[in-house]
Parts: sequence; C-alpha cells; structure tokens
Amino acid sequence: MPNKPSESLPGKFLEQLETVLDPQEIQDFRKSLAKASPTSIRFNPHKPISSASNMDPVPWCPTAYYLPERPSFTLDPSFHGGAYYVQEASSTFLHHILSTIQLPPSSIALDLCAAPGGKSTLLSSYLGETGIVVANEVIKSRAQVLKENIIKWGLGNTIVTQNDPSHFSDLEGFFDIVLVDAPCSGEGMFRKDPAAISEWSPENVSLCVARQQRIIDQVGALPKGGGYLIYATCTYNRKENEESIAFLTREFAYDPVRIPVREEWGIRESEIAVEDDTYYGYRFFPHQVTGEGLFISVLRRTGNSDQSVGLTKEFRHSHLKRVSPKDIPEEISSQLDSTRAIRLYQLGESYFAIPEKKQPIFEKLADCLNIRYFGVELGQVIRGEWLPSHEWALSVLEKKNIPRLELSRDEALKFLKKDSISADNSQKGWLLITYLGLPLGWVKNLGNRVNNYYPKAWRIRS
Ligand code: SAM
Repeated sequence: MPNKPSESLPGKFLEQLETVLDPQEIQDFRKSLAKASPTSIRFNPHKPISSASNMDPVPWCPTAYYLPERPSFTLDPSFHGGAYYVQEASSTFLHHILSTIQLPPSSIALDLCAAPGGKSTLLSSYLGETGIVVANEVIKSRAQVLKENIIKWGLGNTIVTQNDPSHFSDLEGFFDIVLVDAPCSGEGMFRKDPAAISEWSPENVSLCVARQQRIIDQVGALPKGGGYLIYATCTYNRKENEESIAFLTREFAYDPVRIPVREEWGIRESEIAVEDDTYYGYRFFPHQVTGEGLFISVLRRTGNSDQSVGLTKEFRHSHLKRVSPKDIPEEISSQLDSTRAIRLYQLGESYFAIPEKKQPIFEKLADCLNIRYFGVELGQVIRGEWLPSHEWALSVLEKKNIPRLELSRDEALKFLKKDSISADNSQKGWLLITYLGLPLGWVKNLGNRVNNYYPKAWRIRS
C-alpha cells in the first residue's frame, strides 16, 4: 500500500500533468509531494495580538506567515478570538492581486464560492470599513462554517448568503469585484489531503469543467464595467483553468489583466491566447513555491454597465425590519459609539447593525438573496431581558462601557470549553471575557456564581 501521495498518483493524472510540466519537473513535483505541507496563517489587522518575529513571511501577502510547525490551533484562545486565519500560503496571493488592481475606495465584492472563508476574510480585511463583501456559499452546512468564520473575523463589513449562482441574475453590473474560487478536481490538494487522490478521475475533471462553465455563464455579467472577475481553482489541468478563462472570454467581454510577479516567488505565468487577445493565469506548483497548488487569473470587464442603487423610502422584507436607535434597548444603544454612523435592523428578537453608508446596498441584496448573516448581531431582548450576542463580543464594534475580565491561557481555555470560571464580586452583571486583550465572549457575574455564555455549538470539545 503506497503511503506517500507521490507514489500513488493515478497514471492518467500524470499523463495530463505532462501537458503543463516537462519530465524533469514532474520528478521535482513528485518529490515535493513527499514533503510535509507548510502551515501558514494570516493575521487579522483589526485584532492585533503580538508580533510575528519567529516566523517567515509569505512574500506576496504582508499579513501572512509560515509557522515552523503545525501547532494545535484549538488550544490557542487567540485563534478562537479571530486574531488570525489558518490559510494556505498560495491562496493569500489574492492580497497581491488586490493591491495591484485599482479598486474604487468603497468597493462591493462578491465571493461566490466562499466556504470556509479564507478568501472572504482576506477581502474583508483588504476592503476594510469602506467596502462590503458578499460571502456566498451554496451548501447549507458549509455556509454555517463560513458564517462562524466571518463572525470570528469580526469586521462587520460582510454579508453571508446561501444561494446558487443562478440566484444572482438581478445583480448584473452590481459588483466591483467578483471572485469565483471554483469547486474543482482538487489536484493541488493532493499533498495536504491525500483523499483527493482517490477521488480524482478524468470523469470527475469533466464533471468539474461542466460545473465551472455553468457557474461562469451565471456570473460572468455580475461585475460592473471596469470591475474585475477573479477566477481561481486549486487544480493543475488546463481544462479547468486556461480553458475556463477562454470559455469566459468567448461568452462575455473582458480585458486581460497582467499581475506583476517577482521571479524569486516561483509563480509561473501562463498565457492564454483567445482570438486577438492574450489573457494571463498564475500557476503555483509545490516544487516551486512554499505552498500548495493554485491557478488564479484576473480579468477586467469592458463596457460601462453599472447597476447603482439608491435608498428606497420603504423597506419591505418578510423577516427584516428597519429600526432606529430609540427602538432598541438602552443597554445596547448606550454601548455604541454615537460618532459611528450605523443603521439598525430587527430580525425576530435580534438586533443587527450595519454601516449607514451600506444601507442601500444591503437592502438591495436582502431583496434578492437568502441572507444568513450580516453586519454585526448586537443582541436579543427575550422577555424584556437584554442578552448581548456572541457575535457582538467577537466584532470590532465598540463595547464602550462594559467591564472586561482578562483571563490567562488556561482560564481562557476553560471558558472556551464552557466550563465554569470564577470572578470576584467587584463587577457584577455582564463581563466581556478577553485573552491578550482580545474579546472571546460573555459571562454574567451573578455574585454567587458566574454564568458562561460561550455558545454551546462553538465550545472546545477536546
Ligand atoms: N473560497 C474558499 C476559501 O478560500 O476558503 C474555498 C472555496 S472551495 C474551493 C469551493 C466552494 O464552492 C466550496 O465551498 C463548495 O461547497 C462550493 N460549491 C460547490 N458546488 C458549487 C456550485 N455548483 N456553485 C457554487 N459553489 C459551489
């Protein structure tokens, strides 16, 4: 029984690899699969914790670093507080792309195939307070994981939706940037996930191509004129990569975008000739970069299609209601910074905040899409009693007057396991639990006991 991915590669995969690598390189590629997969993390600039002094930087992303070995992330409270995201290094090249292309200051981004959220959280950080990200995932269980990662990241500029690509047809010309990180045959994950090898077959590649073309057909018109479409896969074959780009450019009008890459990065540029134009793709191979396999290409939509939205006088929605600060409990409104312009909504017993300037965009999206999370959930009022939400604890939105209880690592782990923790009686009521200054969640100090409000579904089970 072969135990290294390099020994068990399907013959047909190797035949196909010959169309992208020469024979010597195929040897190097196979050797690289026998090595350990590098571990990398990308820090959350809005939740700074400590310097990355012992780590090697990922050269194309200033917030990403390689770790000398893979630690137990579960046992690091700052991981649960959203201080960093464990992201494969090649994927963080998206940062370099974003910093190269010219995006308007308050861009609207769509990440169409977003779970578990690596690229959505990168987009969220890159666009920051002025931008907005729609992080969409069609599969329900994966949309739940995406939602949790967006909540942990905590910027409040992201809307999580669960829609099929066909549901976006009312949003043509709406986005400044559309990212299609397409479901693919996963050849670039052979080292990290050897199960991908047994799932690989030429038939599966063909199924992936058909699915990718269907997705491209449904979303090729979503970027505004002058907006960008970024297409990525974690696979090597030309059918799912260069041929998908050729398909896109035959169906829709796009200009090529060339991304400068440094030679020492080991990234390979691929030219894609379509009629009179040459488009570009960027290929990552594990024998050339410290990372896994990736293909990524950037195109710019021609023409001037632009669906701008204005605020409607009334907002009619089956579940969501606009509310004003005077409609929400004083316990919540008094915590918010009055200088930060926000708009409030009620969904059932919960109250949510979004940045004021995003109101027309949000309401348009809420009209068209199945929204699973948006902005920051502040809390609920149940039978007249205010319950601050875990989402608010993890968000960067202020919690002005709430006392904090800083815990040691061991105590923080107890809190994250939903075990009981102790607090002295000097501060009663709601306390924000922090570790290294990073909020982790809520407890309520009743004097004779402390109730732990860490969500049951999120608790550490080990
Ligand atoms: N962008 C993600 C990240 O960086 O964390 C990884 C996305 S993964 C490569 C592709 C995603 O596409 C999966 O979450 C998968 O559930 C989703 N997907 C599967 N079938 C799809 C379809 N027909 N249309 C859109 N997305 C689909």
